[in-house]
Amino acid sequence: MKFDIVVIGAGPAGLTAAIYGLRSGCSVAIVEKYMVGGQVALSSEVENYPGMRKLIGTEWGELTRVQVEELGGHFVYDEVTSVDVKTNTLTLMGGKLEYKALILAMGAKPRLLNVPGEQEFAGRGVGYCAICDGGFFKGKDVAVVGGGDSAFEDAEYLANLCSNVHILVRGDKVRAQQLLIDEVNAHKNIKIHFNTQIKQINGSNSVENVLIEEKGVSTNLAVQGVFVAIGRVPDTDIVKGVVNLDENGYILTDEHMHTNLPNVWASGDVRRKSVRQIVTASADGAIAGTNASKYVKNN
Ligand code: NAP
Repeated sequence: MKFDIVVIGAGPAGLTAAIYGLRSGCSVAIVEKYMVGGQVALSSEVENYPGMRKLIGTEWGELTRVQVEELGGHFVYDEVTSVDVKTNTLTLMGGKLEYKALILAMGAKPRLLNVPGEQEFAGRGVGYCAICDGGFFKGKDVAVVGGGDSAFEDAEYLANLCSNVHILVRGDKVRAQQLLIDEVNAHKNIKIHFNTQIKQINGSNSVENVLIEEKGVSTNLAVQGVFVAIGRVPDTDIVKGVVNLDENGYILTDEHMHTNLPNVWASGDVRRKSVRQIVTASADGAIAGTNASKYVKNN
C-alpha cells in the first residue's frame, strides 16, 4: 500500500501530524505497535492541557483515534522493523508500506532499572505502567521507583488500590511538580524513601521483596509489586543510521521538524527538545504534518 504520508507512532505527536496531513488533503497511514494515545493513554489524569481541567488519558486516545478516522486516516496496527529511505518503504512485521513523506513520532519507551530480578520478574510483579497493571496489586504492598512526575502520579494512583506504596527516590530531592507532591502527601499509605537505591528484586514465582540501600543501610522491603518510573528513552532503534540522532538517541530536527532527509520529519518525545509534554508533542505534530503535506504537494 502507498500513502502520501506515513506516520510512525500514534501518540499526541503522530495523531496531530495525521490530522494536519489529512486536513491538507493528503492520504495518511498511522502505524502503531502498541496502543493509540501513546504515553497519554497510560496517564490516569492530566491537568496541564489547556482547556481540559482533567484529561483522562485513555479517553483522549480514543477520541483522537475517532477524529483521525473520521478525517480518513488509516490505522495500521503493526510494528515497523525497518525503514528504507532509498525506496521510501517501511517493512512491517506483516507487510510493507510506501510513503512520499515520512513522519517519525515513535515517542519513548521505559528506561530500565538494570538490577538483578528486573527481567526475571517482568510481568510477574515488575511493571512499567501503573494504570495498566495496578489492578493486580489490590490490597498489596508495592514500591514505585523514581522521583519524577510519572513516579508520583503512579504512586497516587496505586495508593487508591494498594495497602501501602513506597516511593523509592535515589537522591534527596524529587523532580515531580508540586501539585503531584501535594496529592501524594495527602495519602497516609504512601511513604517516600529518600536516598534509596533498589539493589535487587527477589521472589519465587512472583516478587516478594526488594533489597534496598536506604541512606547507606541495606534492608529488605516486603512488597509484591515494583513499578519502575525512572524516565524514558527514545524509541529510535529502527532509524539508527537512517536519520541523524544525538548522543542519547534522540532525533535531530530543525524548527520545522525536518530531519536531515528531504522527505522525513520527526515530532514529539522522539526528537531532541527541552520540554516533553502533550501540548508540545501536539505542536510538533502540527508543524511536521503541515510541512510534510507541503512537500507532497510540491513533489
Ligand atoms: P523524569 O522527569 O526524567 O524523572 C525520572 C526520575 O527517575 C528522576 O527522579 C530520576 O532521579 C529517577 N531515575 C532515573 N534513573 C534512575 C535509576 N537508574 N534509578 C533510580 N532512579 C532513577 O521522568 P518522568 O517522571 O517519566 O517524566 C518524564 C516527562 O514527562 C517529564 O517532562 C514530566 O514532566 C512529564 N510527565 C508529566 C506528567 C503530568 O503532567 N501529569 C505525568 C508524567 C510525566 P534523579 O532526579 O536523581 O535523576
